[in-house]
Amino acid sequence: MIIKDLISIIEDFAPLSAQEKYDNAGLIVGDDNEEIDSALLCVDITEDVVDEAITKGCGVIIAHHPIIFSPIKTITNRSYIDRVLIKAIKNNIALYACHTNLDSIYGGMSWKLANELSLSNCTLLDGDLSTMRGFGIVGELEKEIEVLEFLKIVKSRLNIGAIKYSDLCHTKVRKVALCTGSGGSLLDKAINSGAELYLSADFKYNSYLDAKSRIIIADIGHFESEYCVIDLLFDIIRKKISTFVVHKSEKTKNPINYLV
Ligand SMILES: [Zn+2]
Repeated sequence: MIIKDLISIIEDFAPLSAQEKYDNAGLIVGDDNEEIDSALLCVDITEDVVDEAITKGCGVIIAHHPIIFSPIKTITNRSYIDRVLIKAIKNNIALYACHTNLDSIYGGMSWKLANELSLSNCTLLDGDLSTMRGFGIVGELEKEIEVLEFLKIVKSRLNIGAIKYSDLCHTKVRKVALCTGSGGSLLDKAINSGAELYLSADFKYNSYLDAKSRIIIADIGHFESEYCVIDLLFDIIRKKISTFVVHKSEKTKNPINYLV
């Protein structure tokens, strides 16, 4: 398999044109004409993940977060980003990111998370309903359940260290809004959707005050909300090619730890 062919499979599903203006999704390091035997999927490309790719003989690492996000002037040994770049280039490993294009596309990140949480009747939280491109999802649970009971299910299903949540202005939940990653800016959309609960990550302190009496917000963690990227990318590739070896990283790790 040539890297270019693998990239086309991913970009047929999540075209680069669907990424946000500030983003840097796509091939970041490497020669797309290189032949590869296998790929490694992860959330963030760390030095441990590059080591894993070397051990497993993967010619490309496909991540959610772009390793280069802002312009860089030097590549030394001073930051983990530089060290990742040097190690990847020395070992002939290409680095690729599928980021906000995978967030905004129909069937992308929030759809995957909604599916993992068994939501049905899903629709976009914010975006263009004619193209179904946008951010966040609102959907329904099969039946109404206690809010804390649902949060416990979410915590265990997504392997979350801790969930931060606002005042329980509802005791039960049926309609759930969610957005993978930092979805704090969609709080008003979530309130207007009629959802009792909004799951996302990186809410600001004031959002907990804003939410009070209108919706319950729950911060399920940035990494935890986006870990589904690995299964999502795996399925996208598998559907098109059944023989190519795709590894799910065992070294991709939440950079945030919890004392519980
Ligand atoms: Zn993210």
